[in-house]
Amino acid sequence: MHRLLTITSARDILPQYRETPIGHLLEYHNLERRFGSYTNAELLIGMCMDNRKHLHIPDNFAYIIRAGGANLRYSEFKVSYAIAVAGVRCIALIGHTQCGMVNLIARKDQFVQGLIKTAGWQQQAAEEHFSHFAPMFEIGNEVDFILSEVKRLRLRYPKILVAPLLYRVEDNRLYLIRESTGSGS
Ligand SMILES: [Zn+2]
Repeated sequence: MHRLLTITSARDILPQYRETPIGHLLEYHNLERRFGSYTNAELLIGMCMDNRKHLHIPDNFAYIIRAGGANLRYSEFKVSYAIAVAGVRCIALIGHTQCGMVNLIARKDQFVQGLIKTAGWQQQAAEEHFSHFAPMFEIGNEVDFILSEVKRLRLRYPKILVAPLLYRVEDNRLYLIRESTGSGS
C-alpha cells in the first residue's frame, strides 16, 4: 500500500508529529520506546472495536474510543469530553486492514442470520435493523475513510492535532497514512 508510511525509526515519523503524543504512540507501539509515566491522558485514540488489535502503550497515556471502523461521527460528545475535560490535545485516528465495516452489504445475510440464530431476533426486525444502520456504519475503504474523518475532525476541533494512522493486522504494526499534498495523487 503506497499510501502507508512505514515507521521503523523515529526519523520516519513526519516532522509535525515528532515529539508529540502521536509520535510517542508510534514509538511506543512500533519502536519499543521506554514507557513514560503518565498521570493524565495526553492523547485520544479512535480505533475500531475489532478484536485483532492490541496497542503497546503505557498506562494512563491515552483515552480510547472504540467504534466500528474507527468511525467517531457518532461519538462526538465523548471526543469533546476528552478534549474539554481531560485536556487531551491530540487525536490519533487508527483504521485497520481487513475491517468488517468495509463492504458491509456483502455481510447482510450473515448479519441477519446471526441475529436470528444467536440473539433470537425475528427475520423482519433483523433485516430492518441492518438496512437502517448499515449505511451509517459503512466506511467504503479504510484508508480513504480515515483521511476523510481526519479532515472532518480537524475542522470541528481546529486547535487539536489530528493524525491518520492504519493498523495492519497482518503484522500488528502502526503506519502513518500519507496525505496528498497536491492534485493527482
Ligand atoms: Zn474494523
